Amino acid sequence: MLLALLLALAPTDTIRYAVSFPNAAHHEARIVADFPVGGRDTLEVWMSRASPGRYALHEFAKNVYDVTVTDPSGHALRVVRRDPYRWLVVARGRAVRFSYTLFGDRADGTYAQIDPTHAHLNIPASFAWARGLESRPVAVRFEPPAGSAWRVATQLVATADPLRWAAPDLTYFMDSPIELSDFALRSWTVTGPAGRIDTIRLALHHEGTEAELDAFAGDLEKVVAEQIGIFGESARFDHHVFTFLADYLPWASGDGMEHRNSTVLSASGALARDAVLLLRTASHEFFHSWNMERIRSAEIEPFDFTRADPSHGLWFGEGFTNYYDRLAVRRAGLLSDSAYAVLVAAVVNDVTLAPGRRFFSPMEMSLQAPFVDAATAIDPTNQANTFLSYYTWGAGVGLALDLTLRGRFERKTLDGFMRLMWERFGRPPRRYGLRRTYTVDDLERSLGEYAGDAAFAREFFARYVRGREAPDYGALLAQAGFLVRPSQPGAAFAGALELIPDSAGAVVGSGTIAGTPIYAAGVEAGDRILSAAGTPVRSEPEWTALLAAHAPGDEVPLVFRQRGREVRANLGLAPVPSVDVIPMELAGETPSEAQRAFRTAWLGSRAALSP
Ligand SMILES: [Zn+2]
Repeated sequence: MLLALLLALAPTDTIRYAVSFPNAAHHEARIVADFPVGGRDTLEVWMSRASPGRYALHEFAKNVYDVTVTDPSGHALRVVRRDPYRWLVVARGRAVRFSYTLFGDRADGTYAQIDPTHAHLNIPASFAWARGLESRPVAVRFEPPAGSAWRVATQLVATADPLRWAAPDLTYFMDSPIELSDFALRSWTVTGPAGRIDTIRLALHHEGTEAELDAFAGDLEKVVAEQIGIFGESARFDHHVFTFLADYLPWASGDGMEHRNSTVLSASGALARDAVLLLRTASHEFFHSWNMERIRSAEIEPFDFTRADPSHGLWFGEGFTNYYDRLAVRRAGLLSDSAYAVLVAAVVNDVTLAPGRRFFSPMEMSLQAPFVDAATAIDPTNQANTFLSYYTWGAGVGLALDLTLRGRFERKTLDGFMRLMWERFGRPPRRYGLRRTYTVDDLERSLGEYAGDAAFAREFFARYVRGREAPDYGALLAQAGFLVRPSQPGAAFAGALELIPDSAGAVVGSGTIAGTPIYAAGVEAGDRILSAAGTPVRSEPEWTALLAAHAPGDEVPLVFRQRGREVRANLGLAPVPSVDVIPMELAGETPSEAQRAFRTAWLGSRAALSP
């Protein structure tokens, strides 16, 4: 409504893009941007260096070329280049027409892919924008290739013309990925408080069958209902519509990316093979419509497209979302207790064993995002020993907080805390464009108020969020009748060792992990293991056989070649440190009444509880 008004009142203020695909087979689009400069002498046109939800620098200008800069009647304007991502246009008050070719061949949440089957456009990767014009309305017109059956799926605002779309400002435009293809569409509605109705759409570009799509859409509907049960309502989509934009194609790359009223889901797999995995990603991104898109960290708002955007809150925004993505799939009845327990065990092992915990807390790990989140560099890092993903660690903190709240307080759960965060920081205020954001201090304070125990919140944050402690998962999970026990009792452990065979035997592939016997023995990537316990080691099966012949506590003489020298060391074998998490029933034990009730309250469906 507001948008229509803006466009009607100020048509000459609108930034207009025209997008065509004269060379789709070679992954090119031609984009013409018309910027009304409003009397400015110069205009600064940018290609973004960062994209919201991805934290590394991506330098999208690298795929832009054949740039021409003119006024609307085609007269060339002078352009000054001071860096590779910016064009300083001497406009002298004239409107600027900025035309360029975009190359893109990666379909995921960050980049663009143009080919004869589709144009998959992440906006910061695709569209040049002008500094100072961020609050102007945006209009986009598409010209699909002749003879194609392409239609448009996006959270942009529809107009009467199915090939013309609009956004109220640059922030909304940048947040609105676009899929042009002959996609299949499914939709359903969800009813919220006070009769509010939202439509959920699934636009899927794939090579599978209609029956596979129907089954997937049915499962997704259940997961969506579970999440709405947690918050009590949808995330109040701006135009009462949320769209899953999915590309499950052999030429797509695995990813999921959150936006306010849509998400990009991409995978090289297919529904026939990977439905549960793909469902977990869809679950993750839908949860972000509350936690990240609306319950939003102050540190990434407003998002700066010209640099890396750091945040101390990713353990919450990503990690708690990670905790809930599989929990919602479990509650929807699409994972068994034991399958869910396997996912819990992976988190417990990572959080408990990761050597990165020696150096950084979850808050500090969040700041590492620009170095790990789709970042590329050619020099090696020591991340295997210094990094523990804020996704995993945050999921581990979420698990511990949920189980602690449930065990220690009457009728308090992480669901309840998330709902409070939604009410305080997420639910959109009445006036358009107003946003409340949170800091980590706000999270701690809100937890104290929710639990009615500020000291509890202070201690929990001090130990597990600002600090680096691992929670006691054995005790926490026992409340729900899950056992945490050694995964391979009695077996000997040396630490992960990748051996790459070559003509002379085998070379150590990746770096070893601090805290393991093989690390303590001094073995590193590139070394050649010559013998262990006097026997040659030329392959991974030989190494596995050696371990199987020994017990924890054994000392094994090890000979290896490292950077031209022969090294002799003693390998002190240890017990396998990882654990399994299993329902007690699988170990032949009977959970108590209290354990059963705890598990049902935690893992049972909440969909029926929504408003
Ligand atoms: Zn995420």
